[in-house]
Amino acid sequence: VIDQGVPEHSVVTTCAYCGVGCSFKAEMKGDQLVRMVPYKGGDANHGHSCVKGRFAFGYATHKDRIKTPMIRDSINEPWREVSWEEAIQFSARRLKETQARYGRESIGGITSSRCTNEETYLVQKLIRAAFGNNNTDTCARVCHSPTGFGLKTTLGESAGTQTFDSVMKADTILVIGANPTDAHPVFGSQMRRRLRQGATLIVADPRRIDLLKTPHGGRMLHLPLRPGTNVALINSLAHVVVSEGLEDQAFIGARCESGAYQAWRGFILEERNSPEALESVTGVPAAKVREAARAYAEVHNGAIYYGLGVTEHSQGSTMVMGIANLAMATGNIGREGVGVNPLRGQNNVQGSCDMGSFPHELPGYQHVADPAVRDRFEAVWKVKIDDEPGLRIPNMFDSAIAGTFKALYVQGEDIAQSDPNTQHVQAALTSLDCLIVQDIFLNETAKYAHVLLPGSTFLEKNGTFTNAERRINRVRKVMPPVAGKEDWEVTQDLANALGYPMNYSHPSEIMDEIALLTPTFTGVSYTKLEEHGSIQWPCNESHPDGTPTMHEVDFPIGKGHFAVTEYVPTEERTTRRFPLLLTTGRILSQYNVGAQTRRTANSQWHDEDVLEIHPSDAELRGIRDGDWLGVSSRVGHTVLRCRISDRMQPGVVYTTFHHPGSGANVITTDSSDWATNCPEYKVTAVQVEKVSQP
Ligand code: SF4
Repeated sequence: VIDQGVPEHSVVTTCAYCGVGCSFKAEMKGDQLVRMVPYKGGDANHGHSCVKGRFAFGYATHKDRIKTPMIRDSINEPWREVSWEEAIQFSARRLKETQARYGRESIGGITSSRCTNEETYLVQKLIRAAFGNNNTDTCARVCHSPTGFGLKTTLGESAGTQTFDSVMKADTILVIGANPTDAHPVFGSQMRRRLRQGATLIVADPRRIDLLKTPHGGRMLHLPLRPGTNVALINSLAHVVVSEGLEDQAFIGARCESGAYQAWRGFILEERNSPEALESVTGVPAAKVREAARAYAEVHNGAIYYGLGVTEHSQGSTMVMGIANLAMATGNIGREGVGVNPLRGQNNVQGSCDMGSFPHELPGYQHVADPAVRDRFEAVWKVKIDDEPGLRIPNMFDSAIAGTFKALYVQGEDIAQSDPNTQHVQAALTSLDCLIVQDIFLNETAKYAHVLLPGSTFLEKNGTFTNAERRINRVRKVMPPVAGKEDWEVTQDLANALGYPMNYSHPSEIMDEIALLTPTFTGVSYTKLEEHGSIQWPCNESHPDGTPTMHEVDFPIGKGHFAVTEYVPTEERTTRRFPLLLTTGRILSQYNVGAQTRRTANSQWHDEDVLEIHPSDAELRGIRDGDWLGVSSRVGHTVLRCRISDRMQPGVVYTTFHHPGSGANVITTDSSDWATNCPEYKVTAVQVEKVSQP
């Protein structure tokens, strides 16, 4: 569909790849998409784009698209193509039979961070209102759930504090566990522009990321910490700030809860949190930690950006709180150029969390146990809402294997490839009596499904995505859905077949309901989005035009809450059998499990996942560049081609997870964050040895 002629008209919409949320003009000739042109009026990208958004849209018309619903009685049988009506009735009957046999709690659903806000809202409503339980979770469980917990606990809101443009006023940029030039390319370029103007860069990452190669006049520091020691590092940075008198006492006195601050201060000043005491833990020289702490705290504006290298750990939530502590201690909250900024991976991670996908929270992070909250939703939804939190994704898997969870509806998420410990996930999926998969391709999860409902791409639907800066962008329909229905219509049909009436005629009506029930969205409507182009929530009576910078005057919880962040080593440690630590990440041209980008020309730049290994580790094992390597962990074994790279530190290896064949998640374990169960993808003890070609 690339460059097929002169366009006749164009539609402005939002890229469906990453959390930057770039706006594009989709240039059309009839129903054919000719080109995606970055839109100068886009508030997140200002006319910039990357190779994914600009070129990797051909998957929408790929021959592998599922165009007809399919069903089968068991996963050993071939698929039967059926009408939408038959597929929906079949699904509803299987769900009802499962609940009749195993109970109300025996079924649930998973929403997707690739789908729109309106679709996500509708899936969790279906589960709460038609399934009658809170067994709803989102793929954000496996990426940014610790951000939700950590930022809500400390700052009172589960979201980043700034606009992207704010980075242009930062004097020091501290990047922790993120690789913006590959994973958030347009924002990575903006960051590079600021670095070229002379801002200081500090990168805390086991790997030497490309951002460190930016030519610029300012200072550049790399803190190459050992995987799994984030909390030790953030505590040692904070120790320097407090012990050297670099705190912003005026900010702390006016804006932060005194008792919690004193408790944290006493803890952080303990000698065991000093850079010297923790040097043998993090592997980062104490002098470098001191230099970095000063570089962040002594300037006027210090800004922190972090990614999955922070959250996907057994202490992911603790680390998020540690980052918020550091920002509050230095007064780097509440104005442009500062803040705490999670870089969201998928296009609508922020939105899928905002829309009530979690089993304990209704839209707007309102807890299901709060009777006043439930009263408001029950009045509009006209149904009783369960007051008990439901199952998280890992609990669904465990309960499926235990035989108490028997049916699952998965919209736009390939859990068989993206979740850790593949063997465990497969065991869970094969234990289900009914698995309903709604997706654009026959993905890995669909191999275990009884119903396949064709999904629609972002080009085939109306709705909104919310990017990493809380910006709500319009998604506009560019072409008709290949299977005849947008995703929200399928969910609505399923609700009606289950006996719970839904009769929206357009996603704008779903957004009106979201605004009615979600305090941070009360001012949001499609009309206002047309007028403004985009809106950053909170958008309500106090902030009618939205909120570019959060926490300018106070926090939603009144005063900022310092949390004590004790470092607890991960249980995933190297042994004689597994002497290396594996960490995982992404590359620029591919996107997550690759379902979309692998079906585009982008695959020419990355057609396989490889294992990066330091030259000294390779030499020790007699390994040469390009050799095939067997990679084993305590849960599994896979084979990857070797790339020798001095971007790695000795003892650490790295791979991506864009291709199903290599199966990085065959070897990642199901260790997870203590607060949210976000998997510890970033630390797996492995052995690597040369093998013959697979
Ligand atoms: Fe799409 Fe992200 Fe690239 Fe922007 S930076 S074009 S949102 S993938």
